[in-house]
Amino acid sequence: MRLTLLIISILGVLIASPTSAFAKVNVFACEPEWAALAQEIGGDLIDVTSATTARQDVHHLRAKPSLLAAMRKADLVFCTGAGLEIGWLPILLKKAGGPDVQMETLGSIMASDYVEKLEIMQKVDRSMGHVHPEGNPHIQLDPANIETVAEVLADRLFMIDQTNAAAYSQNLENFKQKWTAATKRWSAEKASIQGKKVVVYHNSWAYLLKWLGIDAVASLEPKPGLPPTASHLEEVLKTVKGQEVSAILVAPFENEDAAQWLAEKTGIPIVRLPFTVGGTDNAGDLISLFDDTLKRMKDAS
Ligand SMILES: [Zn+2]
Repeated sequence: MRLTLLIISILGVLIASPTSAFAKVNVFACEPEWAALAQEIGGDLIDVTSATTARQDVHHLRAKPSLLAAMRKADLVFCTGAGLEIGWLPILLKKAGGPDVQMETLGSIMASDYVEKLEIMQKVDRSMGHVHPEGNPHIQLDPANIETVAEVLADRLFMIDQTNAAAYSQNLENFKQKWTAATKRWSAEKASIQGKKVVVYHNSWAYLLKWLGIDAVASLEPKPGLPPTASHLEEVLKTVKGQEVSAILVAPFENEDAAQWLAEKTGIPIVRLPFTVGGTDNAGDLISLFDDTLKRMKDAS
């Protein structure tokens, strides 16, 4: 008797609860930085899957079954765009994406559509390597871009899940407050590294370097997406000789051999930056991503 009563009361509670408590918005993020941002704005009203980790090169990914399964559930697809995921996202969308998450629908956010992109190409041909003709897509390392995209995301969550609009709005406000405070702190910190020069592996750092006021004097890749060659590295060596270069920047998923070679020849330190959330042990969220990036840049110079 008691047990029956207990079951009935539990059922009663379940039935009386608002449905919104159960229907979480499923967010399919292509990259860890967007998964982290979704978590900030969506809190426990959403479930987030990140298609990639910081250790994976987002330029090259396979549309594997686990990603198809995640895409099938998605209410919102939240990616970088600008061709970054061109090798796998269209396949996932075609095979497993519902009509509400296809490109240019309410359930699709391509973050790079909302920021001013660097390096937009007027003319592209195959001799240029694996370039990004729609502009450099690695937009996440400028704090202003993160704030812009946070607003876009909150707007979209209001529309997809109107019942919880007030909560998303509050989360956005909280995030913006902490972001503004952090950005102020970073602006003061970055003064000491302004005007420095670095060598990069791939042009993954364009937005970061612009924000920091740092110059990339050479890339280890001879052309975007092509692995370093001996002859190109000799050119890089010539370029950096006689200049004061403070670091060779490498992302977590990039091969270090060429950087090692250059470091040995020149004494310039290799600096591994997190690149995205999870890229180093200390970069556990968006704020610590920038904290750790700045710390590593400052330690090197
Ligand atoms: Zn790239």
